[in-house]
Amino acid sequence: MELLEQYIREKGVVKKGNVLKVDSFLNHQMDVHLFSEMGREWKRLFADAPINKILTIEASGIGIACIAAQLFEVPVVFAKKAQSINIDGEVYASKVQSFTHKRVYDVIVSKKFLSPDDHILVIDDFLANGCAVNGLLDIIEASGATLEGVGIAVEKGFQEGGKLLRERGVRLESLAIVDAMDAKTGELTFRH
Ligand code: 5GP
Repeated sequence: MELLEQYIREKGVVKKGNVLKVDSFLNHQMDVHLFSEMGREWKRLFADAPINKILTIEASGIGIACIAAQLFEVPVVFAKKAQSINIDGEVYASKVQSFTHKRVYDVIVSKKFLSPDDHILVIDDFLANGCAVNGLLDIIEASGATLEGVGIAVEKGFQEGGKLLRERGVRLESLAIVDAMDAKTGELTFRH
């Protein structure tokens, strides 16, 4: 998506450790105009899918998921990061290895909000090794709901998450795919 690539080129900062900082428009300060355009693009890409719910993960997926949900006219559920001690039989739970914080945490969704009748679009800001999305897919599977697809804002194509999801047959629509980035020069290469 041209507009998102333009934002990344102009405002993104390439950090050491394969981290792309986009906190001026995507996951700290949020550019809602951009989010609307992203939502419209996912709506176009998933036009034929019978999506009735969007699932994301706190915190940075929530903003983009809410704006997309307005266009899809469906509710958003976000998986919460929880202490294991709080996990009871009323929730679906999975473990996620955090890419940015280098630790494992539990994510939970109340059983009240996912059922076999649901057709889910997963949305998140980044796809790196795929741990966050895989955690959400585990939860969807446990609930008996149907996964319709995954919408990602920025996929880092040089990490394996996207490749593994596509190999599994998951319908994955990443609005920008960064195939290479250099922390020294700030140079970015997009896949088209
Ligand atoms: P994964 O679970 O696919 O390895 O990583 C995805 C999650 O880690 C996303 O939810 C996102 O919050 C975070 N993340 C991964 N890579 C980056 C990055 O380069 N920049 C930022 N800002 N977050 C990232």
